[in-house]
Amino acid sequence: MLHRYASLLPLTGLLTLAACNSGSKPTSGIPETVNADFDRYKQRFIDSLWYYNPEWASGQGYHRYDSLLVVPTAGRRQTEAAALARRRQEMKTFRVEELSVNNQTDFRLMENYLQSAGFYADTLRDWQWNPANYNIGGSVADILNGRYWPLDRRLRAISSKLSRVVDYYEAAKQNIQRPTREHTDLAIRQNQGGLEVFGKALQDSVAKSGLSAREKQDLLGRIATTRLSMEGYVRFLQQEVLPAGQFRSFRIGKALFARKFALDIQSTYSAEQVYRKALAHKQELLRDMKRRAARLYPKYFPGQPLPPDSLAAVQQVIGRLSQQHATPAGFVQAVQDQMPTLVKWVDDHHLLTQDPTKPLVVRETPLYMRGSGAGASISAPGPYDKAANTYYNVEPLTGQSAARAESYLREYNQYTLQILNIHEAIPGHYTQLVYANRSPSLIKSIFGNGAMIEGWAVYTERMMLESGYGGNTDEIWLMWDKWNMRVTLNAILDHEVQAGAITEAAAVALLRRDGFQEEAEARNKWLRATLSQVQLSSYFTGSTEIYDLREELKRQQGSAFNLKAFHEQFLSYGSAPVKYIRHMMLQPDKQD
Ligand code: ZN
Ligand code: ZN
Repeated sequence: MLHRYASLLPLTGLLTLAACNSGSKPTSGIPETVNADFDRYKQRFIDSLWYYNPEWASGQGYHRYDSLLVVPTAGRRQTEAAALARRRQEMKTFRVEELSVNNQTDFRLMENYLQSAGFYADTLRDWQWNPANYNIGGSVADILNGRYWPLDRRLRAISSKLSRVVDYYEAAKQNIQRPTREHTDLAIRQNQGGLEVFGKALQDSVAKSGLSAREKQDLLGRIATTRLSMEGYVRFLQQEVLPAGQFRSFRIGKALFARKFALDIQSTYSAEQVYRKALAHKQELLRDMKRRAARLYPKYFPGQPLPPDSLAAVQQVIGRLSQQHATPAGFVQAVQDQMPTLVKWVDDHHLLTQDPTKPLVVRETPLYMRGSGAGASISAPGPYDKAANTYYNVEPLTGQSAARAESYLREYNQYTLQILNIHEAIPGHYTQLVYANRSPSLIKSIFGNGAMIEGWAVYTERMMLESGYGGNTDEIWLMWDKWNMRVTLNAILDHEVQAGAITEAAAVALLRRDGFQEEAEARNKWLRATLSQVQLSSYFTGSTEIYDLREELKRQQGSAFNLKAFHEQFLSYGSAPVKYIRHMMLQPDKQD
Protein backbone atom coordinates (compact mmCIF):
# COMPACT_ATOMS: atom_id res chain seq x y z
CA MET A 1 0.00 0.00 0.00
CA LEU A 2 1.14 3.47 -0.80
CA HIS A 3 -0.20 6.75 0.40
CA ARG A 4 0.66 10.34 -0.10
CA TYR A 5 0.96 12.67 2.86
CA ALA A 6 -2.23 14.20 4.14
CA SER A 7 -4.48 12.27 1.86
CA LEU A 8 -7.60 11.24 3.75
CA LEU A 9 -9.98 11.36 0.82
CA PRO A 10 -12.30 8.40 0.59
CA LEU A 11 -11.46 6.01 -2.23
CA THR A 12 -14.50 6.94 -4.21
CA GLY A 13 -14.25 10.71 -3.95
CA LEU A 14 -11.21 11.10 -6.08
CA LEU A 15 -12.40 11.54 -9.62
CA THR A 16 -15.99 12.54 -9.00
CA LEU A 17 -15.68 16.24 -9.70
CA ALA A 18 -14.34 18.02 -12.71
CA ALA A 19 -11.94 20.53 -14.12
CA CYS A 20 -12.05 23.93 -15.74
CA ASN A 21 -12.07 27.65 -16.50
CA SER A 22 -9.27 29.98 -17.36
CA GLY A 23 -8.80 32.48 -20.12
CA SER A 24 -7.26 32.30 -23.53
CA LYS A 25 -6.82 29.30 -25.75
CA PRO A 26 -3.42 27.78 -26.34
CA THR A 27 -2.17 28.23 -29.85
CA SER A 28 -0.41 25.48 -31.62
CA GLY A 29 2.88 26.79 -33.01
CA ILE A 30 5.57 25.40 -35.26
CA PRO A 31 6.76 21.96 -34.01
CA GLU A 32 9.75 23.25 -32.01
CA THR A 33 7.57 25.43 -29.87
CA VAL A 34 4.76 22.93 -29.51
CA ASN A 35 6.30 21.35 -26.44
CA ALA A 36 6.87 24.71 -24.78
CA ASP A 37 3.26 25.64 -25.53
CA PHE A 38 2.06 22.36 -24.15
CA ASP A 39 4.14 22.77 -20.98
CA ARG A 40 2.49 26.12 -20.37
CA TYR A 41 -0.92 24.67 -21.11
CA LYS A 42 -0.36 21.83 -18.60
CA GLN A 43 0.22 24.43 -15.90
CA ARG A 44 -3.08 26.14 -16.70
CA PHE A 45 -4.84 22.78 -16.86
CA ILE A 46 -3.62 21.97 -13.34
CA ASP A 47 -4.55 25.40 -11.98
CA SER A 48 -8.10 24.97 -13.17
CA LEU A 49 -8.17 21.37 -11.93
CA TRP A 50 -7.40 22.63 -8.42
CA TYR A 51 -9.81 25.54 -8.69
CA TYR A 52 -12.64 23.13 -9.44
CA ASN A 53 -11.45 20.44 -7.00
CA PRO A 54 -10.19 22.24 -3.90
CA GLU A 55 -10.43 19.16 -1.68
CA TRP A 56 -8.37 17.04 -4.03
CA ALA A 57 -5.87 19.90 -4.11
CA SER A 58 -5.60 20.05 -0.30
CA GLY A 59 -5.01 16.30 -0.23
CA GLN A 60 -2.14 16.69 -2.74
CA GLY A 61 -0.52 19.45 -0.72
CA TYR A 62 -1.71 22.38 -2.86
CA HIS A 63 -3.35 24.83 -0.51
CA ARG A 64 -4.36 27.87 -2.51
CA TYR A 65 -8.03 26.86 -2.55
CA ASP A 66 -8.31 25.44 0.98
CA SER A 67 -10.95 27.98 1.94
CA LEU A 68 -13.36 26.88 -0.83
CA LEU A 69 -16.15 24.39 -0.29
CA VAL A 70 -17.83 22.96 -3.37
CA VAL A 71 -21.59 22.78 -2.84
CA PRO A 72 -22.66 19.87 -5.07
CA THR A 73 -25.81 21.33 -6.64
CA ALA A 74 -27.18 20.70 -10.15
CA GLY A 75 -25.97 24.18 -11.12
CA ARG A 76 -22.49 23.32 -10.00
CA ARG A 77 -22.52 20.13 -12.06
CA GLN A 78 -23.45 22.17 -15.13
CA THR A 79 -20.63 24.62 -14.53
CA GLU A 80 -18.20 21.75 -14.23
CA ALA A 81 -19.50 20.03 -17.36
CA ALA A 82 -19.02 23.28 -19.30
CA ALA A 83 -15.49 23.59 -17.98
CA LEU A 84 -14.69 20.03 -19.03
CA ALA A 85 -16.03 20.76 -22.50
CA ARG A 86 -13.73 23.81 -22.74
CA ARG A 87 -10.74 21.69 -21.72
CA ARG A 88 -11.60 19.12 -24.37
CA GLN A 89 -11.71 21.85 -27.02
CA GLU A 90 -8.37 23.25 -25.90
CA MET A 91 -6.76 19.81 -26.02
CA LYS A 92 -7.77 19.51 -29.66
CA THR A 93 -5.38 22.33 -30.57
CA PHE A 94 -2.43 20.01 -29.84
CA ARG A 95 -1.40 17.20 -32.13
CA VAL A 96 -0.24 14.40 -29.91
CA GLU A 97 2.28 13.01 -32.43
CA GLU A 98 4.14 16.34 -32.41
CA LEU A 99 4.80 16.15 -28.68
CA SER A 100 7.82 14.67 -26.91
CA VAL A 101 7.45 11.18 -25.46
CA ASN A 102 7.07 12.64 -21.99
CA ASN A 103 4.39 15.07 -23.12
CA GLN A 104 2.58 12.42 -25.14
CA THR A 105 1.98 10.44 -21.96
CA ASP A 106 0.90 13.57 -20.11
CA PHE A 107 -1.49 14.37 -22.95
CA ARG A 108 -3.04 10.89 -22.74
CA LEU A 109 -3.40 11.17 -18.98
CA MET A 110 -5.12 14.57 -19.27
CA GLU A 111 -7.39 13.27 -21.99
CA ASN A 112 -8.22 10.24 -19.87
CA TYR A 113 -9.02 12.50 -16.92
CA LEU A 114 -11.46 14.54 -19.01
CA GLN A 115 -13.19 11.36 -20.18
CA SER A 116 -13.25 9.92 -16.66
CA ALA A 117 -14.71 13.05 -15.12
CA GLY A 118 -17.47 13.04 -17.73
CA PHE A 119 -18.12 9.34 -17.17
CA TYR A 120 -18.35 9.70 -13.39
CA ALA A 121 -20.68 12.70 -13.61
CA ASP A 122 -23.01 11.61 -16.43
CA THR A 123 -22.90 7.83 -16.69
CA LEU A 124 -21.75 6.25 -13.43
CA ARG A 125 -23.53 8.99 -11.43
CA ASP A 126 -22.21 7.84 -8.11
CA TRP A 127 -23.11 11.28 -6.75
CA GLN A 128 -26.66 9.92 -6.71
CA TRP A 129 -26.13 6.49 -5.26
CA ASN A 130 -23.12 6.84 -2.98
CA PRO A 131 -24.04 8.93 0.08
CA ALA A 132 -20.48 8.45 1.37
CA ASN A 133 -19.31 10.93 -1.29
CA TYR A 134 -20.46 13.60 1.15
CA ASN A 135 -18.35 14.06 4.24
CA ILE A 136 -16.71 17.31 5.29
CA GLY A 137 -14.44 15.63 7.86
CA GLY A 138 -11.70 14.36 5.56
CA SER A 139 -10.85 17.62 3.83
CA VAL A 140 -10.91 19.66 7.04
CA ALA A 141 -8.55 17.11 8.64
CA ASP A 142 -6.24 17.48 5.61
CA ILE A 143 -6.05 21.23 6.14
CA LEU A 144 -5.73 20.98 9.91
CA ASN A 145 -3.00 18.29 9.90
CA GLY A 146 -0.94 19.91 7.15
CA ARG A 147 2.00 21.82 8.59
CA TYR A 148 2.85 24.04 5.60
CA TRP A 149 0.91 27.01 6.92
CA PRO A 150 0.84 28.53 10.40
CA LEU A 151 -2.14 27.47 12.51
CA ASP A 152 -3.97 30.82 12.19
CA ARG A 153 -3.97 30.68 8.43
CA ARG A 154 -5.22 27.08 8.42
CA LEU A 155 -8.01 27.95 10.85
CA ARG A 156 -9.13 30.92 8.73
CA ALA A 157 -9.30 28.64 5.68
CA ILE A 158 -11.36 26.12 7.66
CA SER A 159 -13.66 28.87 8.93
CA SER A 160 -14.35 30.11 5.43
CA LYS A 161 -14.93 26.58 4.18
CA LEU A 162 -17.37 25.77 6.96
CA SER A 163 -19.44 28.90 6.28
CA ARG A 164 -21.22 26.95 3.51
CA VAL A 165 -21.65 23.65 5.31
CA VAL A 166 -25.44 23.86 5.68
CA ASP A 167 -25.84 24.28 1.90
CA TYR A 168 -23.37 21.46 1.35
CA TYR A 169 -25.35 18.86 3.28
CA GLU A 170 -28.66 20.15 1.90
CA ALA A 171 -27.36 19.61 -1.64
CA ALA A 172 -26.14 16.16 -0.63
CA LYS A 173 -29.64 15.18 0.54
CA GLN A 174 -31.13 16.48 -2.72
CA ASN A 175 -28.69 14.44 -4.78
CA ILE A 176 -29.40 11.07 -3.24
CA GLN A 177 -31.68 8.88 -5.31
CA ARG A 178 -31.96 5.16 -4.80
CA PRO A 179 -28.56 4.70 -3.16
CA THR A 180 -27.08 1.30 -2.39
CA ARG A 181 -27.71 0.08 1.11
CA GLU A 182 -23.98 -0.67 1.49
CA HIS A 183 -22.87 2.87 0.64
CA THR A 184 -25.61 4.30 2.86
CA ASP A 185 -24.27 2.28 5.79
CA LEU A 186 -20.77 3.44 4.90
CA ALA A 187 -21.84 7.10 4.80
CA ILE A 188 -23.39 6.76 8.25
CA ARG A 189 -20.21 5.22 9.71
CA GLN A 190 -17.89 7.68 8.00
CA ASN A 191 -19.86 10.80 8.88
CA GLN A 192 -20.09 9.63 12.48
CA GLY A 193 -16.32 9.16 12.36
CA GLY A 194 -15.89 12.53 10.65
CA LEU A 195 -17.55 14.22 13.64
CA GLU A 196 -14.35 13.56 15.60
CA VAL A 197 -12.55 16.13 13.47
CA PHE A 198 -14.84 18.80 14.97
CA GLY A 199 -14.27 17.76 18.59
CA LYS A 200 -12.27 19.08 21.49
CA ALA A 201 -8.87 19.06 19.76
CA LEU A 202 -10.08 21.52 17.10
CA GLN A 203 -11.81 23.69 19.69
CA ASP A 204 -8.60 23.78 21.75
CA SER A 205 -6.62 24.77 18.64
CA VAL A 206 -9.02 27.66 18.09
CA ALA A 207 -8.66 28.75 21.71
CA LYS A 208 -4.85 28.82 21.64
CA SER A 209 -4.63 30.44 18.16
CA GLY A 210 -3.88 34.06 17.37
CA LEU A 211 -7.31 34.67 15.86
CA SER A 212 -9.23 37.74 17.06
CA ALA A 213 -12.04 37.23 19.55
CA ARG A 214 -14.54 37.84 16.77
CA GLU A 215 -12.91 35.31 14.44
CA LYS A 216 -12.80 32.74 17.21
CA GLN A 217 -16.46 33.26 17.96
CA ASP A 218 -17.39 32.88 14.27
CA LEU A 219 -15.33 29.76 13.86
CA LEU A 220 -16.63 28.10 17.02
CA GLY A 221 -20.16 28.86 15.85
CA ARG A 222 -19.44 27.28 12.46
CA ILE A 223 -17.94 24.21 14.10
CA ALA A 224 -21.14 23.81 16.12
CA THR A 225 -23.22 24.23 12.93
CA THR A 226 -21.05 21.67 11.16
CA ARG A 227 -21.65 19.13 13.89
CA LEU A 228 -25.39 19.71 13.66
CA SER A 229 -25.32 19.39 9.86
CA MET A 230 -23.37 16.14 9.97
CA GLU A 231 -25.66 14.73 12.65
CA GLY A 232 -28.62 15.87 10.56
CA TYR A 233 -27.25 14.07 7.52
CA VAL A 234 -26.70 10.87 9.50
CA ARG A 235 -30.25 11.14 10.87
CA PHE A 236 -31.60 11.68 7.35
CA LEU A 237 -29.86 8.52 6.18
CA GLN A 238 -30.95 6.52 9.21
CA GLN A 239 -34.53 7.75 9.52
CA GLU A 240 -35.56 8.50 5.93
CA VAL A 241 -33.33 6.73 3.45
CA LEU A 242 -32.94 3.38 5.22
CA PRO A 243 -36.61 2.91 6.20
CA ALA A 244 -37.79 3.88 2.67
CA GLY A 245 -35.97 0.77 1.43
CA GLN A 246 -35.54 2.12 -2.13
CA PHE A 247 -32.13 0.68 -2.86
CA ARG A 248 -30.27 -0.22 -5.99
CA SER A 249 -27.80 -3.11 -6.15
CA PHE A 250 -24.19 -2.45 -5.22
CA ARG A 251 -23.24 -4.31 -8.41
CA ILE A 252 -22.62 -1.84 -11.22
CA GLY A 253 -23.03 -4.55 -13.88
CA LYS A 254 -20.92 -5.77 -16.77
CA ALA A 255 -21.12 -2.74 -19.10
CA LEU A 256 -20.30 -0.08 -16.49
CA PHE A 257 -17.61 -2.27 -14.99
CA ALA A 258 -15.89 -2.67 -18.36
CA ARG A 259 -16.01 1.08 -18.97
CA LYS A 260 -14.81 2.00 -15.48
CA PHE A 261 -12.04 -0.57 -15.75
CA ALA A 262 -10.86 0.99 -19.03
CA LEU A 263 -10.87 4.53 -17.58
CA ASP A 264 -9.48 3.84 -14.10
CA ILE A 265 -6.84 1.26 -15.01
CA GLN A 266 -5.98 2.29 -18.58
CA SER A 267 -4.74 -1.21 -19.30
CA THR A 268 -3.74 -2.87 -22.55
CA TYR A 269 -6.22 -5.59 -21.56
CA SER A 270 -9.98 -5.43 -21.23
CA ALA A 271 -11.74 -6.23 -17.96
CA GLU A 272 -12.82 -9.56 -19.44
CA GLN A 273 -9.27 -10.48 -20.50
CA VAL A 274 -7.92 -9.70 -17.04
CA TYR A 275 -10.62 -11.83 -15.45
CA ARG A 276 -9.70 -14.79 -17.65
CA LYS A 277 -5.98 -14.29 -16.98
CA ALA A 278 -6.65 -14.21 -13.24
CA LEU A 279 -8.63 -17.47 -13.39
CA ALA A 280 -5.81 -19.18 -15.28
CA HIS A 281 -3.16 -17.77 -12.92
CA LYS A 282 -5.11 -19.02 -9.91
CA GLN A 283 -4.92 -22.56 -11.28
CA GLU A 284 -1.18 -22.20 -11.88
CA LEU A 285 -0.62 -21.02 -8.31
CA LEU A 286 -2.66 -23.89 -6.89
CA ARG A 287 -0.70 -26.44 -8.90
CA ASP A 288 2.58 -24.94 -7.74
CA MET A 289 1.49 -24.86 -4.11
CA LYS A 290 0.40 -28.50 -4.14
CA ARG A 291 3.64 -29.58 -5.76
CA ARG A 292 5.82 -27.69 -3.27
CA ALA A 293 3.76 -28.65 -0.23
CA ALA A 294 4.05 -32.34 -1.17
CA ARG A 295 7.85 -31.98 -1.35
CA LEU A 296 8.05 -30.09 1.97
CA TYR A 297 5.65 -32.34 3.87
CA PRO A 298 8.15 -35.02 4.98
CA LYS A 299 10.57 -32.30 6.17
CA TYR A 300 8.05 -30.61 8.47
CA PHE A 301 5.90 -33.62 9.38
CA PRO A 302 8.44 -36.46 9.45
CA GLY A 303 6.98 -39.94 9.56
CA GLN A 304 3.44 -38.73 8.83
CA PRO A 305 1.64 -39.77 5.62
CA LEU A 306 0.82 -37.00 3.13
CA PRO A 307 -2.89 -36.08 3.58
CA PRO A 308 -5.02 -37.29 0.65
CA ASP A 309 -6.60 -33.80 0.38
CA SER A 310 -3.83 -31.81 -1.31
CA LEU A 311 -5.24 -28.45 -0.17
CA ALA A 312 -5.11 -29.70 3.43
CA ALA A 313 -1.42 -30.51 2.96
CA VAL A 314 -0.78 -26.98 1.64
CA GLN A 315 -2.66 -25.55 4.61
CA GLN A 316 -0.62 -27.58 7.10
CA VAL A 317 2.75 -26.71 5.60
CA ILE A 318 1.86 -23.01 5.45
CA GLY A 319 0.78 -23.21 9.10
CA ARG A 320 4.10 -24.73 10.08
CA LEU A 321 6.18 -22.21 8.12
CA SER A 322 4.19 -19.33 9.64
CA GLN A 323 5.48 -20.29 13.08
CA GLN A 324 8.87 -18.84 12.18
CA HIS A 325 8.55 -15.17 12.92
CA ALA A 326 9.96 -12.16 14.80
CA THR A 327 9.10 -11.38 18.43
CA PRO A 328 6.55 -8.61 19.16
CA ALA A 329 9.29 -6.39 20.63
CA GLY A 330 11.67 -7.10 17.75
CA PHE A 331 9.28 -6.59 14.85
CA VAL A 332 10.14 -3.03 13.81
CA GLN A 333 13.85 -3.84 14.15
CA ALA A 334 13.41 -6.95 11.99
CA VAL A 335 12.04 -4.76 9.21
CA GLN A 336 14.85 -2.26 9.63
CA ASP A 337 17.51 -4.99 9.53
CA GLN A 338 16.31 -6.22 6.16
CA MET A 339 16.77 -2.89 4.38
CA PRO A 340 20.57 -3.04 3.92
CA THR A 341 20.26 -6.68 2.82
CA LEU A 342 17.77 -5.72 0.11
CA VAL A 343 19.88 -2.77 -1.06
CA LYS A 344 22.95 -5.00 -1.35
CA TRP A 345 21.07 -7.77 -3.13
CA VAL A 346 19.70 -5.40 -5.76
CA ASP A 347 23.21 -3.98 -6.33
CA ASP A 348 25.02 -7.31 -6.39
CA HIS A 349 22.55 -8.85 -8.81
CA HIS A 350 22.46 -5.85 -11.15
CA LEU A 351 18.69 -5.47 -10.91
CA LEU A 352 18.66 -1.67 -11.14
CA THR A 353 20.71 1.37 -10.14
CA GLN A 354 19.80 2.80 -6.72
CA ASP A 355 20.20 6.31 -5.41
CA PRO A 356 22.14 6.23 -2.12
CA THR A 357 21.45 9.95 -1.49
CA LYS A 358 17.75 9.32 -0.83
CA PRO A 359 17.59 6.89 2.07
CA LEU A 360 14.29 5.43 3.16
CA VAL A 361 13.38 6.28 6.76
CA VAL A 362 11.90 3.33 8.66
CA ARG A 363 9.74 4.56 11.54
CA GLU A 364 6.98 3.43 13.87
CA THR A 365 3.65 4.37 12.29
CA PRO A 366 2.48 7.74 13.69
CA LEU A 367 -0.47 7.38 16.07
CA TYR A 368 -3.01 9.14 13.83
CA MET A 369 -2.35 6.63 11.03
CA ARG A 370 -2.64 3.47 13.09
CA GLY A 371 -5.47 1.00 13.18
CA SER A 372 -6.40 1.04 9.48
CA GLY A 373 -5.42 -2.61 9.22
CA ALA A 374 -2.35 -1.88 7.12
CA GLY A 375 0.58 -3.04 9.25
CA ALA A 376 3.12 -1.44 6.97
CA SER A 377 2.91 1.31 4.38
CA ILE A 378 4.98 3.85 2.54
CA SER A 379 4.30 7.56 3.09
CA ALA A 380 5.54 9.45 0.09
CA PRO A 381 5.79 13.21 -0.10
CA GLY A 382 3.16 14.73 -2.39
CA PRO A 383 3.99 16.37 -5.71
CA TYR A 384 4.40 19.81 -4.09
CA ASP A 385 6.72 18.59 -1.38
CA LYS A 386 9.21 16.35 -3.13
CA ALA A 387 12.20 17.15 -0.94
CA ALA A 388 10.50 15.70 2.15
CA ASN A 389 11.43 12.27 3.51
CA THR A 390 9.85 9.06 2.35
CA TYR A 391 8.83 6.98 5.36
CA TYR A 392 8.31 3.29 5.75
CA ASN A 393 5.69 3.12 8.51
CA VAL A 394 5.73 -0.07 10.52
CA GLU A 395 3.13 -0.53 13.20
CA PRO A 396 4.76 -1.62 16.48
CA LEU A 397 3.16 -4.64 18.18
CA THR A 398 4.20 -3.87 21.72
CA GLY A 399 0.86 -2.31 22.70
CA GLN A 400 -1.25 -5.20 21.44
CA SER A 401 -2.60 -8.26 23.21
CA ALA A 402 -0.39 -11.34 22.98
CA ALA A 403 -2.98 -13.19 20.88
CA ARG A 404 -3.37 -10.37 18.35
CA ALA A 405 0.38 -9.85 18.04
CA GLU A 406 0.90 -13.57 17.53
CA SER A 407 -1.72 -13.74 14.77
CA TYR A 408 -0.15 -10.75 13.06
CA LEU A 409 3.36 -12.16 13.33
CA ARG A 410 2.23 -15.46 11.86
CA GLU A 411 0.80 -13.55 8.89
CA TYR A 412 4.04 -11.55 8.51
CA ASN A 413 6.33 -14.47 9.26
CA GLN A 414 9.98 -14.86 8.36
CA TYR A 415 9.07 -15.50 4.71
CA THR A 416 6.23 -13.10 4.01
CA LEU A 417 7.94 -10.28 5.91
CA GLN A 418 10.69 -10.40 3.29
CA ILE A 419 8.14 -10.28 0.48
CA LEU A 420 6.34 -7.40 2.21
CA ASN A 421 9.61 -5.45 2.46
CA ILE A 422 10.32 -6.02 -1.22
CA HIS A 423 6.81 -4.74 -2.07
CA GLU A 424 6.74 -1.68 0.17
CA ALA A 425 10.38 -0.69 0.07
CA ILE A 426 13.18 -2.11 -2.07
CA PRO A 427 12.90 -2.44 -5.02
CA GLY A 428 9.10 -1.92 -4.77
CA HIS A 429 7.18 1.28 -3.94
CA TYR A 430 10.03 3.27 -2.48
CA THR A 431 12.45 2.58 -5.35
CA GLN A 432 9.76 3.30 -7.96
CA LEU A 433 9.06 6.65 -6.29
CA VAL A 434 12.68 7.70 -6.39
CA TYR A 435 12.67 7.05 -10.13
CA ALA A 436 9.29 8.73 -10.65
CA ASN A 437 10.53 11.90 -8.95
CA ARG A 438 13.32 12.12 -11.50
CA SER A 439 10.94 12.64 -14.40
CA PRO A 440 9.41 15.77 -12.96
CA SER A 441 5.94 15.75 -14.44
CA LEU A 442 3.28 17.21 -12.20
CA ILE A 443 0.67 15.63 -14.46
CA LYS A 444 2.09 12.16 -13.81
CA SER A 445 2.29 12.82 -10.07
CA ILE A 446 -1.32 13.95 -9.94
CA PHE A 447 -2.82 11.39 -12.31
CA GLY A 448 -0.28 8.72 -11.32
CA ASN A 449 -1.57 5.35 -12.43
CA GLY A 450 -2.48 3.12 -9.48
CA ALA A 451 -2.24 -0.09 -11.50
CA MET A 452 1.31 0.79 -12.60
CA ILE A 453 2.37 1.73 -9.06
CA GLU A 454 0.88 -1.34 -7.36
CA GLY A 455 1.73 -3.52 -10.35
CA TRP A 456 5.41 -2.60 -10.07
CA ALA A 457 5.50 -3.46 -6.35
CA VAL A 458 3.83 -6.83 -6.99
CA TYR A 459 6.07 -7.51 -10.00
CA THR A 460 9.23 -6.95 -7.93
CA GLU A 461 8.22 -9.66 -5.42
CA ARG A 462 8.40 -12.31 -8.11
CA MET A 463 11.41 -10.74 -9.84
CA MET A 464 13.45 -10.74 -6.60
CA LEU A 465 12.63 -14.39 -5.92
CA GLU A 466 13.53 -15.25 -9.51
CA SER A 467 16.94 -13.64 -8.94
CA GLY A 468 17.48 -16.06 -6.06
CA TYR A 469 16.53 -13.84 -3.13
CA GLY A 470 15.30 -16.06 -0.30
CA GLY A 471 17.41 -18.97 -1.56
CA ASN A 472 15.03 -20.18 -4.29
CA THR A 473 13.61 -22.67 -1.77
CA ASP A 474 10.23 -24.41 -1.84
CA GLU A 475 9.46 -22.59 1.42
CA ILE A 476 9.80 -19.04 0.08
CA TRP A 477 8.05 -19.87 -3.20
CA LEU A 478 5.16 -21.57 -1.42
CA MET A 479 4.68 -18.47 0.74
CA TRP A 480 4.91 -16.25 -2.35
CA ASP A 481 2.25 -18.38 -4.03
CA LYS A 482 -0.10 -17.76 -1.13
CA TRP A 483 0.77 -14.07 -1.06
CA ASN A 484 0.27 -13.68 -4.81
CA MET A 485 -2.97 -15.65 -4.60
CA ARG A 486 -4.42 -12.76 -2.61
CA VAL A 487 -4.03 -10.23 -5.44
CA THR A 488 -5.18 -12.83 -7.96
CA LEU A 489 -8.35 -13.57 -5.98
CA ASN A 490 -8.92 -9.83 -5.50
CA ALA A 491 -9.17 -9.45 -9.28
CA ILE A 492 -11.46 -12.47 -9.61
CA LEU A 493 -13.67 -11.32 -6.77
CA ASP A 494 -13.89 -7.74 -8.06
CA HIS A 495 -15.13 -9.02 -11.40
CA GLU A 496 -17.56 -11.60 -10.02
CA VAL A 497 -19.01 -9.20 -7.44
CA GLN A 498 -19.38 -6.14 -9.69
CA ALA A 499 -19.91 -7.65 -13.15
CA GLY A 500 -21.33 -10.99 -12.02
CA ALA A 501 -23.68 -12.33 -9.36
CA ILE A 502 -21.51 -14.13 -6.79
CA THR A 503 -23.07 -14.33 -3.32
CA GLU A 504 -21.34 -13.47 -0.07
CA ALA A 505 -21.32 -17.13 1.01
CA ALA A 506 -19.71 -18.25 -2.26
CA ALA A 507 -17.16 -15.41 -2.16
CA VAL A 508 -16.11 -16.20 1.40
CA ALA A 509 -15.85 -19.90 0.56
CA LEU A 510 -13.62 -19.09 -2.44
CA LEU A 511 -11.27 -16.89 -0.39
CA ARG A 512 -11.04 -19.44 2.40
CA ARG A 513 -10.56 -22.51 0.21
CA ASP A 514 -8.27 -21.28 -2.58
CA GLY A 515 -6.79 -18.30 -0.73
CA PHE A 516 -6.25 -20.01 2.66
CA GLN A 517 -7.66 -16.86 4.29
CA GLU A 518 -9.12 -16.53 7.75
CA GLU A 519 -12.88 -15.95 8.09
CA ALA A 520 -12.42 -12.32 9.23
CA GLU A 521 -10.12 -11.42 6.34
CA ALA A 522 -12.53 -12.98 3.84
CA ARG A 523 -15.56 -11.09 5.26
CA ASN A 524 -13.66 -7.80 5.14
CA LYS A 525 -12.69 -8.45 1.55
CA TRP A 526 -16.32 -9.10 0.62
CA LEU A 527 -17.31 -5.77 2.15
CA ARG A 528 -14.57 -3.97 0.25
CA ALA A 529 -15.61 -5.67 -2.99
CA THR A 530 -19.17 -4.38 -2.56
CA LEU A 531 -18.03 -0.80 -1.87
CA SER A 532 -15.38 -0.34 -4.56
CA GLN A 533 -15.30 -1.26 -8.23
CA VAL A 534 -12.17 -1.99 -10.29
CA GLN A 535 -9.67 -0.92 -7.60
CA LEU A 536 -9.25 -4.51 -6.36
CA SER A 537 -8.23 -5.53 -9.88
CA SER A 538 -5.43 -2.98 -10.18
CA TYR A 539 -2.67 -5.01 -8.46
CA PHE A 540 -3.09 -8.09 -10.59
CA THR A 541 -3.64 -6.14 -13.81
CA GLY A 542 -0.55 -3.95 -13.41
CA SER A 543 1.79 -6.75 -12.38
CA THR A 544 0.57 -9.02 -15.19
CA GLU A 545 1.07 -6.28 -17.78
CA ILE A 546 4.62 -5.57 -16.56
CA TYR A 547 5.51 -9.25 -16.50
CA ASP A 548 4.03 -9.80 -19.98
CA LEU A 549 5.89 -6.77 -21.33
CA ARG A 550 9.16 -8.12 -19.96
CA GLU A 551 8.60 -11.53 -21.53
CA GLU A 552 7.64 -9.93 -24.83
CA LEU A 553 10.86 -7.88 -24.89
CA LYS A 554 12.87 -10.96 -23.97
CA ARG A 555 11.48 -12.81 -26.96
CA GLN A 556 12.08 -9.81 -29.19
CA GLN A 557 15.65 -9.08 -28.04
CA GLY A 558 16.86 -12.62 -27.38
CA SER A 559 20.35 -12.71 -25.87
CA ALA A 560 20.58 -8.90 -26.06
CA PHE A 561 17.89 -8.57 -23.38
CA ASN A 562 19.23 -6.95 -20.21
CA LEU A 563 17.09 -7.07 -17.07
CA LYS A 564 18.69 -4.03 -15.44
CA ALA A 565 18.23 -1.93 -18.57
CA PHE A 566 14.62 -3.09 -18.80
CA HIS A 567 13.86 -2.04 -15.22
CA GLU A 568 15.56 1.31 -15.53
CA GLN A 569 13.90 2.18 -18.79
CA PHE A 570 10.52 1.02 -17.51
CA LEU A 571 10.78 3.21 -14.42
CA SER A 572 12.11 6.23 -16.31
CA TYR A 573 8.68 7.22 -17.63
CA GLY A 574 7.23 7.95 -14.19
CA SER A 575 3.94 6.56 -12.87
CA ALA A 576 2.30 6.31 -16.28
CA PRO A 577 -0.11 3.53 -17.29
CA VAL A 578 1.78 0.39 -18.37
CA LYS A 579 -0.07 0.58 -21.69
CA TYR A 580 1.76 3.81 -22.62
CA ILE A 581 5.11 2.69 -21.22
CA ARG A 582 4.74 -0.45 -23.28
CA HIS A 583 4.04 1.61 -26.37
CA MET A 584 7.18 3.70 -25.82
CA MET A 585 9.41 0.74 -25.02
CA LEU A 586 8.35 -1.16 -28.09
CA GLN A 587 9.22 1.77 -30.37
CA PRO A 588 12.71 2.74 -29.24
CA ASP A 589 13.35 4.95 -32.29
CA LYS A 590 10.87 7.56 -31.22
CA GLN A 591 12.64 8.54 -27.98
CA ASP A 592 13.51 12.16 -27.52
ZN1 ZN B 1 1.41 -1.61 -2.53
ZN1 ZN C 1 4.33 -17.80 17.12
